[in-house]
Amino acid sequence: MSRTNSLRTGRGRRTALALGLLLAVLAAACGKEGSPPVKGPKAEALPVYQVDQGFQLPESATWRKAQRRGYLIVGAKEDQPYLGEKDPASGVYSGFDIEIARMMAASLGFEPKTIRFRTIASANRETALQNGQIDYYVGTYTINDMRKKLVGFAGPYYMAGQGLLVRTDEDDINGPQDLAGKTVCSAAGTTPYQRIAEEYPKAVLVAYDTYSVCVDNLLTYQVDAVTTDDAILLGFAAKAPDEMKVVGKSFSEEPYGIGVARSDNALRFALDDALEANEKNGNWKKAFEATLGLSGVPAPTPPPIDRYPAN
Ligand code: GLU
Repeated sequence: MSRTNSLRTGRGRRTALALGLLLAVLAAACGKEGSPPVKGPKAEALPVYQVDQGFQLPESATWRKAQRRGYLIVGAKEDQPYLGEKDPASGVYSGFDIEIARMMAASLGFEPKTIRFRTIASANRETALQNGQIDYYVGTYTINDMRKKLVGFAGPYYMAGQGLLVRTDEDDINGPQDLAGKTVCSAAGTTPYQRIAEEYPKAVLVAYDTYSVCVDNLLTYQVDAVTTDDAILLGFAAKAPDEMKVVGKSFSEEPYGIGVARSDNALRFALDDALEANEKNGNWKKAFEATLGLSGVPAPTPPPIDRYPAN
């Protein structure tokens, strides 16, 4: 059914009404630091990261440049609930990925006020790192061999898996095997997009720059499902549990890494060390519980760091 047709029907009018309400709810709830989900646990306090005052990393070209500049430029997402969100009014970023970025900054000797976040969409991450537009990237960025040819990865710091988000009135889709003939939305240049294209060719794939646009399309009946990492989808569902649900089991492994320039092994190893230290001292768990934990996921044991050799 086309959008125009659907809006003429009763269901279409109800949907339009529901969507208006939802947008109001999302506008009120999105982006505020620690904004509570509609259902689920309450916000915990965010950890305070001890800045390593005497830290030096002269072997890292990225670190030296940031030091001279006086601030870090960190690539992130701005529309992924509990992971990377930007408050439209204050411009403040929040979420688990943002906390990982802040933890790393403190370990590299940078004060919190000397971090500047820059939103970079999934498809532009490699270029941004290769061109030195950002010092590092923290935004649901899956480590894989293809990307390792272009960039470096510290971590992993979290293990996600691909999932499916549908409207609550959807009964036919319970896993990727049900996608034949259905319209599925994902972001361009991503592993979930790639997997559907390769393994579920009967699905009708639609790509946008961001998952929030996919979610808008889902709520207006323009697509049947949104696919990406469960961590991202659970956040959207937690913000609007009456409208959307995550279905089925996750069907891939998406280890999240911190993207760095491929040549900067010194920075990569320093970030590996910093992740390990923060996992040990409890900051990782605390940060998780105060952010991504709000979408209903209990804090897991973080995956082991893969300190692969310099290349
Ligand atoms: N983790 C997947 C990827 O890196 C999907 C999430 C994203 O687009 O950031 O492609």
